[in-house]
Amino acid sequence: MRKIAVLSQNTIDKIAAGEVVERPASVVKELVENAIDAGATAITVEIKEGGISFIRVTDNGGGIPKEQVPLAFLRHATSKITQAEDLLQITSLGFRGEALSSISAVSQMEVITKAPEDFMGVRYVIEGGQEKVLEDVGAPNGTTMLVRNLFFNTPARKKFLKTAMTEAGYVSSYMEQLALSHHNISFKYMVNGQLRLHTSGNANLKDVIYGIYGRDITRELLPVQYEVSGLSVSGFIGKPSIARGNRNFENYYINGRYVKSKLLMKAIEEAYKPYMMQHKYPFVCLQYDIHGEDVDVNVHPTKMEVRFKNQSAIYNATYDLITDALAGKEIIPEVSLTP
Ligand code: ADP
Ligand code: MG
Repeated sequence: MRKIAVLSQNTIDKIAAGEVVERPASVVKELVENAIDAGATAITVEIKEGGISFIRVTDNGGGIPKEQVPLAFLRHATSKITQAEDLLQITSLGFRGEALSSISAVSQMEVITKAPEDFMGVRYVIEGGQEKVLEDVGAPNGTTMLVRNLFFNTPARKKFLKTAMTEAGYVSSYMEQLALSHHNISFKYMVNGQLRLHTSGNANLKDVIYGIYGRDITRELLPVQYEVSGLSVSGFIGKPSIARGNRNFENYYINGRYVKSKLLMKAIEEAYKPYMMQHKYPFVCLQYDIHGEDVDVNVHPTKMEVRFKNQSAIYNATYDLITDALAGKEIIPEVSLTP
């Protein structure tokens, strides 16, 4: 006879972890978002073996107060919201209280953290969701999170990871998105001990674009700026001449959050249509500031999707700002020569 039983907390956490933690890049995303939420102005990310065996994120943010460290690793434990109503006005990147519990359920984690108000820092070790060490240590203000051997206890998951090189590639493109969306933060990114990306934290967006995409792209950019009540958009768009064959050039951020949006994709592509051959995609780097109430980020655990309250306002803003910028520059449409 089949027997119904509630799963153990450890099993629940492992299952839930699958929604948040898909690969090393998702761990990096969650840890860096926490660092940003903690007010860090400098964040260092180091990975080894594509992040599968080693991910370390160090920040100079507010740290976790000593007595709250084990709490931070409990499922649905968060300092960012206290009630459902807060979901309508989210200003932080995190709010679900799932990342640390999920990551620690499927890896070997070590944390060193110190809040300015504490005299000593804390070292906390948690492996497969089991607490191993909790002790005082001397530490600077801020937090270091070390994640070793991702999916060591969920072999089925581990099998789905790609090669270390491919996984490192995912982390690297995410780091670029971070540098672009938060150019006021200094990022340092190391792969197998080698420095791969370094931003100063006081550069303007164009400098960051230059650092990532190089001179040929940066030379072909047009600045854009759009402002109506409750919505502002700024950034750069590329001239049609630097379009490429995939969408990796389309970067947009909603309130500092890197997202994918069919609506924005469509608005961008429609605006470029008169200037572009088929299957070519433009360069854009657009930062949207939208009133918290007008955008819902609580659509999916990874928060890569958003819903806009007023879709047509966002669509039109995007379409118009691109159309105006391109029209102002007397760009000669690229005409397809094939009949
Ligand atoms: P969420 O980010 O959704 O709140 P997490 O599981 O990612 O959930 O983190 C749980 C809590 O741990 C956070 O709400 C925050 O208080 C604390 N925390 C996590 N990382 C850091 C960090 N780098 N610096 C300071 N506090 C942190
Ligand atoms: Mg978080």
